[in-house]
Amino acid sequence: MESAQPVVVAIDGPSGTGKSSTSKAVAAQLGMSYLDTGAQYRAITWWMVHHGIDVADPSAIAAVAGKPEIVSGTDPAEPTILVDGVDVAGPIRTDEVTAKVSAVSAVPEVRARITELQRSLAGSAERGIVVEGRDIGTTVLPDADVKVFLTASAEARAARRSGELQGADVHSTRDALLKRDAADSSRKTSPFVKAGDALEVDTTELTLAQVIECVVMLVEEKRAGK
Ligand code: C5P
Repeated sequence: MESAQPVVVAIDGPSGTGKSSTSKAVAAQLGMSYLDTGAQYRAITWWMVHHGIDVADPSAIAAVAGKPEIVSGTDPAEPTILVDGVDVAGPIRTDEVTAKVSAVSAVPEVRARITELQRSLAGSAERGIVVEGRDIGTTVLPDADVKVFLTASAEARAARRSGELQGADVHSTRDALLKRDAADSSRKTSPFVKAGDALEVDTTELTLAQVIECVVMLVEEKRAGK
């Protein structure tokens, strides 16, 4: 029998592994909340660009990291992201924000701010939550009930991403993905690494439906045993 204890699920991995689609679908299927932490880092990056902050200057970023008000809507059917009341769901996906987000998210003051928001949302999710990102299982929610680390070959990831970006060149998409992985993995504060106790799922040869089924099973097992 399911207990009322909410389950917290951490899904980490680089982009192009099916992380967002999987996380949203699992949350929707199991009636849980959903949080896209990449969208939060993209939102604060958008704010920096919008306010003319030099993203190559960590101290300039740190000085204003506390200013933007970032609000994430956690319904998996309709996740939202607002900065100072502005809906930035579209603008945070531009090439400019994508190219700058690793520099902004490497700044410790930015991470402290966003991590606090993430923990507060996870702590108040009454029906449990699926949180996707890069450091959820390691730093943000190290006590998560289920931890999954999604991987895929660089080729598969680039092919999926360029498909999503409507025909963007696969080679340049692959280079941009690898560059962002390298920056995220080498930063000093909360680098992107697999949590020792996360289950690694290589999605290269799997369909999205298979990955979703695998994570749903893990969550249901955990719920049954809680
Ligand atoms: O997942 P997405 O590709 O939207 O993430 C954008 C960027 O946000 C990542 O490349 C990384 O720099 C940052 N990020 C992070 N920690 C997270 C989630 C995202 O540093 N938990």
